Amino acid sequence: MSLFRDLIELFFPRSCCLCGAPLLGSEHDICLHCLQTLPEALTAQGKDNIVDHRLMGRINYVAATSLLLFSQGNNTQRLLHQIKYHGNEPLAVTMGRQIGLQLTGNHLFDDVDIIIPVPLHPRKQRRRGYNQSLLLCRGITQTFARPVSSDNLIRIRHTASQTHMNREERFNNMNGVFRVLNPQDLIGKHILIVDDVITTGATLEACYTALKDIQGLRISIATLAVTDNA
Ligand SMILES: [Zn+2]
Repeated sequence: MSLFRDLIELFFPRSCCLCGAPLLGSEHDICLHCLQTLPEALTAQGKDNIVDHRLMGRINYVAATSLLLFSQGNNTQRLLHQIKYHGNEPLAVTMGRQIGLQLTGNHLFDDVDIIIPVPLHPRKQRRRGYNQSLLLCRGITQTFARPVSSDNLIRIRHTASQTHMNREERFNNMNGVFRVLNPQDLIGKHILIVDDVITTGATLEACYTALKDIQGLRISIATLAVTDNA
């Protein structure tokens, strides 16, 4: 098996998605050096971090965490670009495993029951070929062993790209976008909502609006990245 892999690597060398260096056997998609020097969002220390400041007062949650800090032109931006626009699906799973490790080390997430990705509209998912948040979940569940549910929280409305919208336009754009198909399955549960990046928090707030009336439901949030400003 190992000889087979060595032969494959001889003809199809694997390289780091950021620096291009050849990957070692234990590395996946990104080299250890690039992985360790990615700009961290430093949300693991608990409350009063950048994610809390972004979401507090708008979403009632148990805990919210983000792995990386996104700034214009930094390696987090390049990483997200690979995942969202260059079809680098394995990289999303790899980074999901990193998020899962962060969750495992934080007792606030201990009693999470279910992992739920922020859904894409079916049309957008068909065009991209995958939902990057679901791929993150597939990685998370490898290091933070909880079941993933991707068919209960659904997106019922297509939204325009938010990239060039201001705060207010983003909130209006997200109104009534999500729906829960089987709310009874979530009664009394602690769910972890997973998204790729928090910008204004409008997407997560819209998910919360769809979920908040479910009896006894508690919500936590994990994202790959958070932008350095909204
Ligand atoms: Zn690298």
